[in-house]
Amino acid sequence: MMAEDFSRACEILKNASHAVVFTGAGISVESGIPPFRGPDGLWNKVDPSFLELENFFRDPVNSWRLIKEIFYDFIGSAKPNPAHFAVARLEQAGIVKSVITQNIDNLHQKAGSRSVIEFHGNMLYAKCLECERRYSYAEVMDIVARRTPPSCACGGVLKPDAVFFGEAIPPDALSTSFEEAARCDLMLVIGTSAQVEPAASLPYIAKGREPMLFRFMHVGRPHKECHVIEINREPTPLTGHVSDFIIQGSAGEALALIVEHLKSRMGLP
Ligand code: NAD
Repeated sequence: MMAEDFSRACEILKNASHAVVFTGAGISVESGIPPFRGPDGLWNKVDPSFLELENFFRDPVNSWRLIKEIFYDFIGSAKPNPAHFAVARLEQAGIVKSVITQNIDNLHQKAGSRSVIEFHGNMLYAKCLECERRYSYAEVMDIVARRTPPSCACGGVLKPDAVFFGEAIPPDALSTSFEEAARCDLMLVIGTSAQVEPAASLPYIAKGREPMLFRFMHVGRPHKECHVIEINREPTPLTGHVSDFIIQGSAGEALALIVEHLKSRMGLP
């Protein structure tokens, strides 16, 4: 981690009037949840097609078997790590105004973040495909133990309340995220490979550039003043292109140091 970039990030955070945090799977790696991509990524072990909506409809029994094995059994007991706590701390201090997360693991909420936009839903809940009743993790685990696929009291099949490949982003999450990205003067982009659209367009919108995908919608404000800082173990397609700089390292370590620095040297309450 470059000391110079680290101090610069602290200074920018301290002076931000509307900082937004945008997170991906990398922030939860230190909580024991593997990311999709990279050497330890899930896609090296399982075929991504099991999260395709079409596959779920075709074979909900097998989909649920894999979902339970890969996510459900341990995601419910996963605990937030220092990175999640640091993000919550920055929100409590009034610096961070919202957290846009691509994660489906509920760990920002568990760490105490309040203003969380779940761009890809939340795997800890499931929804009936017929009547749309929402079930909690405990209820789903209870039903799954008795029958697969789990079904609702009305007889409809339950689907995890996370966005599958081929499924639309929840409209409220999409519009609020775009508004927050268009409004912020700092976007802290943590642990995302920035390859999944439309989420990957948010840093472009923050920077005041119209991403190709949304050019026809005129999303984004050209020449908007905004810092985009990445925290990631590896450079991404945003690095040196959209982000001002990258703090290369583990999210837990970098964010805990940032909070410590803001507390001891810059009067963070
Ligand atoms: P990704 O798997 O494509 O990329 C993970 C990124 O995190 C990589 O750039 C990697 O270098 C970085 N990283 C890994 N460990 C890190 C650490 N300790 N500190 C900082 N950075 C680290 O993830 P993505 O970009 O979020 O996109 C994939 C999709 O996967 C998302 O839409 C998300 O819904 C889903 N997903 C979520 C979870 C979760 O909820 N925890 C887990 C896996 C996948």
